[in-house]
Amino acid sequence: MNVDNVMLNLEKRLPGEPEYHQAVREVLESIVDICNQNPHFESAGLIERLIEPDRVFTFKVPWVDDEGNVHVNRGYRVQFNNAIGPYKGGLRFHPSVNISILKFLGFEQIFKNSLTTLPMGGGKGGSDFQPKGKSDKEIMRFCQAFMLELWKIIGPETDVPAGDIGVGTREIGYLYGMYKKLTHEHTGILTGKGLNWGGSLIRPEATGFGVVYFTNEMLATKGLSLKGKTVAVSGFGNVAWGAVTKLNELGAKVVTLSGPDGYVFDEEGIYGRKIDYMLELRASNEDIVQPFADEFESAVFVKDKHPWEVKCDIAIPCATQNELNSEDASNLIGNKCICLCEGANMPCMPEAIELIRQSDIIFGPGKAANAGGVATSGLEMSQNSMKLMWTKDEVDSRLHQIMHAIHQTCVKHGITPDGKVDYVKGANIAGFLKVANAMIDQGII
Ligand code: NDP
Repeated sequence: MNVDNVMLNLEKRLPGEPEYHQAVREVLESIVDICNQNPHFESAGLIERLIEPDRVFTFKVPWVDDEGNVHVNRGYRVQFNNAIGPYKGGLRFHPSVNISILKFLGFEQIFKNSLTTLPMGGGKGGSDFQPKGKSDKEIMRFCQAFMLELWKIIGPETDVPAGDIGVGTREIGYLYGMYKKLTHEHTGILTGKGLNWGGSLIRPEATGFGVVYFTNEMLATKGLSLKGKTVAVSGFGNVAWGAVTKLNELGAKVVTLSGPDGYVFDEEGIYGRKIDYMLELRASNEDIVQPFADEFESAVFVKDKHPWEVKCDIAIPCATQNELNSEDASNLIGNKCICLCEGANMPCMPEAIELIRQSDIIFGPGKAANAGGVATSGLEMSQNSMKLMWTKDEVDSRLHQIMHAIHQTCVKHGITPDGKVDYVKGANIAGFLKVANAMIDQGII
C-alpha cells in the first residue's frame, strides 16, 4: 500500500472533507507495514472497502420553536462498518456538524469499538442543530422530529446510536420516547438511557473515568501515578466532568476547564462543590465558563486562550476536535508536561502530535483512551439483552478491566525497538487487525 496514493485518490474523490482525510491518513500511516506484510488485504481491496462507509443517510429535520417559527436542520447517520457487530456510535448536535466531521468520527469509531473487545461496529450521526439557548420544549420537539426519520434505519441488532456533544441523557430520553412510540417496542435501541428505563450505572461518567484509568496505566509504565499531579483539562461537558471527578478521586489536582471562548484557571483545584456546579451550569443551557469563574474566588477566566499555556504535569483535552495546535504542544513541552491523554476525539492537530511524539511526553490517543464510553454503552446493551442491571461496582470494575486490556493491547502492538510505546500505532494496528480479519472472513461485500 502506498499511503500517499490512497490519500490522493480519496482527496480527489471527496474534496472538502478535511477532517475525514486527517483521520484516514493517521490510521493508514500506522498500518502501512501490516498491510504490506499481508498482501491478501490488498488483493481483497480491503483498504478501499474500509474507507468507504457502508451507507450515509441525510435527512430533513423540520421543527417549530416556542414562538411558532419553523426551522429546518439537516440530520445524518453514517453507518460505516459492521464487520464485528451492529453499527455503534454517538449522535452529535452542534452547528459545526457536517459530513466530513461525521465520517471522521465514524471511521475512528470502527477501531475504537474494535479495541473495546466487545462486538460493535462503527457509525456516527447527528445534526447541525444548536441546542444551546433552546428551551426544553424546543429540544424535545427537535429530538422527536429527528427520530421521525432516524427510526427507519436503526435497530437493536442493526445500529445502536448513543450521545456525543450536545446529546446527553435528556436528549436520549426524547429520542427514545419517539422511537418507542413509532415501533411499539421497548428495546435497547439507544445507549446512555436513563437509569429507570434501561440505562446503565456509570455510563454518564464512563468516558471520563476511562480516560483517567488509561492515563494511570500509561503513567504506571514509567513507575508514576496520578497522585499529587497537576492536571489541565479542557471542555466543560460530559467527558470533562467524568475526568475531573475521577482525577480528584485518584489524588490529582485539576486546575483548568474550558469552553469555546476561553478557559478557567483555578490554582486551588476544581473539586467538591465546584464539580457539582459544573453540572448545574451545563443543565442551564447558557454560557458556562465565565459564570463558573465568577462563582469561585480562586477561579479566573482567561478569554480567547487555550488552557495548555498553564504549567501542568498532565494534559487531558476533553472538548472537541483540533483544539490543541502546535503552539499549545510547544507550551506543554516547555512546561515539562509528562503525559497528554486525549479525552475528546482527535483533539490534537497532526502538527501538535508530531511535536509531542518527538518529545518525552507520553501520548495516549483518543481512540484508545476515550473508548470507555462506548465500552460502557456495550455493557448497557448486554444488560438490556439479559434484562437485568448490574451494580455500580460491577460496571466500574468491568470498565476498569476493559481499559486495562486496551492499554495492554496498545503496548503489545505499539512497542518500538528502543522500548518506548507508540500508543497511536498500537491502537491503530490492534483496532484495524480485528476488523480487517473479520472483513476477509466475510468475503467481498
Ligand atoms: P459535551 O457537549 O458534553 O461537552 C463539550 C464541551 O466542550 C462543552 O463544554 C463545549 O462548550 C466545549 N467546547 C466545544 N468547542 C470547544 C472549543 N473549541 N474549545 C473549548 N471547548 C469547547 O460533549 P462531550 O463531553 O460528550 O464530548 C467531548 C468530546 O469527547 C467530543 O470530542 C466527543 O466526540 C468525545 N467523546 C465523547 C464521548 C461521550 O461518551 N460523551 C465518548 C467518546 C468521546 P459549549 O457547550 O459552550 O460549546
